[in-house]
Amino acid sequence: MDFRALVRIAHHRRALLRHDRWTREQLISHQSRELASLREFACLKSAFYYRFHEGRADCPLEELPVLAREEFERGALDIETDRSATARVSHAVEAAVAAASRERVLAWAGLAPGFAQWFDPVRSTVYGAPAAGPYGGPYSASPRMRFRHLDAARPAADLSRELNDWQPAFIRTTADRALALAREQLDGALRITPAIVSLEGALLTPETRWIIEEAWGTAVFDAYTADGLGVLAAECAEHRGLHLCEDLNVIEIVDAEGHAVAPGVFGERVLVTSLYRRARPLIRYELRDRVRLAARACPCGRPFRLIDGLEPGPRGAR
Ligand SMILES: [Zn+2]
Repeated sequence: MDFRALVRIAHHRRALLRHDRWTREQLISHQSRELASLREFACLKSAFYYRFHEGRADCPLEELPVLAREEFERGALDIETDRSATARVSHAVEAAVAAASRERVLAWAGLAPGFAQWFDPVRSTVYGAPAAGPYGGPYSASPRMRFRHLDAARPAADLSRELNDWQPAFIRTTADRALALAREQLDGALRITPAIVSLEGALLTPETRWIIEEAWGTAVFDAYTADGLGVLAAECAEHRGLHLCEDLNVIEIVDAEGHAVAPGVFGERVLVTSLYRRARPLIRYELRDRVRLAARACPCGRPFRLIDGLEPGPRGAR
């Protein structure tokens, strides 16, 4: 990891964390500014969007066509806008924002970067969690975290000795693997004391959460991620649900007919518009996840809406 990239990530992480103090109105006006610039850019620079959104330049977002995965794959080459030298710079910025958004998940979970960690990096384990984003690489680029990656194919029962030795303070994995590890801990084979267990990519039931918390007496932080889109939502320390990362995406939760659903009701689809991606713009990209908006706001005061129900749909290779 080169120094310039680290500085860039730190810059974007600080900027993202400042958004925690935004009002909802500030967030909405940021979204509409970024959305207008994204739509103009996409229609100008991507042959696909030029056709796909033809004659709809003045439509509200909700009236633009949904970009299904099949459509995205068929049009993949035309969607790309990345053809010039300046696009390489924008690619680096996108990579930094994506990395910063993953680091924000850690900050929301209470793992804020501190000076001491430069000398004593947080021991961390990633166990078979899905790829962090479109740029591959580790979950966090920060030298303040030292990661040990465990292969998804290894059963939890085989990991006890290695983990007892490593003693991770931070574990990132999927709900089913965390459950398997928690059972090893409750059986006495595994003896670790992680401060934070960060989950993603699978359904986290209240029962699974309870068993993991029982095993380690520690807080579980769920996150909603999608391949190619990075972190879409993550929990804060209040554990009232997952905050949608609405400063980076416009996230629509809709029914089977494409109409927005009310809080408290599960949608059938999630439509994601990524506000910062320019190399491969995604506008109303469809995920077949069932998601429910929370009816009540989070007491933490962040301006991002909460989801309190999440049933991940089938994942395709992206
Ligand atoms: Zn909150």
